[in-house]
Amino acid sequence: MCIFCSIAKKEINSHLVYEDDTVLAFLDINPTAVGHTLVIPKEHYESFLECPAKLRDHLFEVAQMLAKKLEESLNCDGLNILSNVHEAAGQSVNHFHVHLIPRYKGDTEIIHFHETENVDFEALKEKLK
Ligand code: 5GP
Ligand code: ZN
Repeated sequence: MCIFCSIAKKEINSHLVYEDDTVLAFLDINPTAVGHTLVIPKEHYESFLECPAKLRDHLFEVAQMLAKKLEESLNCDGLNILSNVHEAAGQSVNHFHVHLIPRYKGDTEIIHFHETENVDFEALKEKLK
């Protein structure tokens, strides 16, 4: 059984910070920063890509509310809000989740995107249109 399904069913303990009929939020067991929180649908969807629109929208509404709460209560200086999709992107639990990661001035683990060389922007644009 998926670990986040077990958390949603309360078979495994977690530090819950939010719950309603369809969405749950709890503290990450291995936080990258103080207040690192995960927001999940109670129902199992492999990733962001599979989550139905209505549930996805509600989950992001909750995520936004919690992000504001984190900012207010922890006085952080910023937040990273992200969802990894598939192993290649770092997804280790295959149950859709959104990370809310408070950031503090002086943090060393800032996410930096490095340049990719030789991008054919015109061809790419045509593919994505
Ligand atoms: P991913 O790497 O899939 O984007 O993120 C999975 C996150 O789930 C990781 O940050 C990891 O620390 C967290 N995690 C994995 N297992 C558990 C667990 O049993 N309880 C809690 N609270 N967090 C977990
Ligand atoms: Zn699951």
